[in-house]
Amino acid sequence: MPLNSLRRLWRNLGLAQTRCTYCLVPFTPETALNATAPLCPACVALLAPCNAPRCLRCALPLDTATTLCGECLHNPPPWDGIAAYGLYQGELRNALLRLKFGGEFTMASLLGDCLFKIATALPPPDALVAVPQHPVHLRRRGFNQAHEIARALHRHTGIPLRADLLRRAAPHIPQTGLSAAARRRNTRQLFEASAQARDLALWLVDDVMTTGVTLRSAVRALRDGGARETLVLIVARTPLDSPCEHQ
Ligand SMILES: [Zn+2]
Ligand SMILES: [Zn+2]
Repeated sequence: MPLNSLRRLWRNLGLAQTRCTYCLVPFTPETALNATAPLCPACVALLAPCNAPRCLRCALPLDTATTLCGECLHNPPPWDGIAAYGLYQGELRNALLRLKFGGEFTMASLLGDCLFKIATALPPPDALVAVPQHPVHLRRRGFNQAHEIARALHRHTGIPLRADLLRRAAPHIPQTGLSAAARRRNTRQLFEASAQARDLALWLVDDVMTTGVTLRSAVRALRDGGARETLVLIVARTPLDSPCEHQ
């Protein structure tokens, strides 16, 4: 029997079934899966990337024909480029919350697959770096969701994940409830890069970007530490005025 007929028979008998990572419903993939976290067709559509117009420097959704938002025009971010999968809403937001507050590590694989999709067009870096979490948050949660997503991307790409290149510098006041200006002051000295970052091209991975203040501070530290290039990879971007529930 030809191979294609065998595959069809295998599928028709339901033997090729797999379980959707997001909705947990069994389904039969039409083609070979190129993902560590398989998704059924309905969830592929629900978790599709955002193709709406966005700021080229910070991925902020724009409702005009401009290419840069006002903030990036007046205060350009320090990174060399940005890739953002989607917006912090709907099922993508739900997947991020299931990882962060529900501790569902399968969501890290799913979100790592999302980053893999947007990263394939970029030149590969020397290493991946996850935005380090504040020690208080890390103690409370027991894991850093950005690191888990970066680890999934590392498994998918083989690019080394370097937790030693960037660390939190000093305790700070919680960010929640602060204005953007107050956050900027609060995060000025938030990170320190290791000497090992010198001359490296890096992808800095984070789960959600709200004001971008934390990411600006992290990239500035890497740049001060001698990193050659830093691209920011984020799963989801919020509009500037969204509540900051992900801190
Ligand atoms: Zn599904
Ligand atoms: Zn912008």
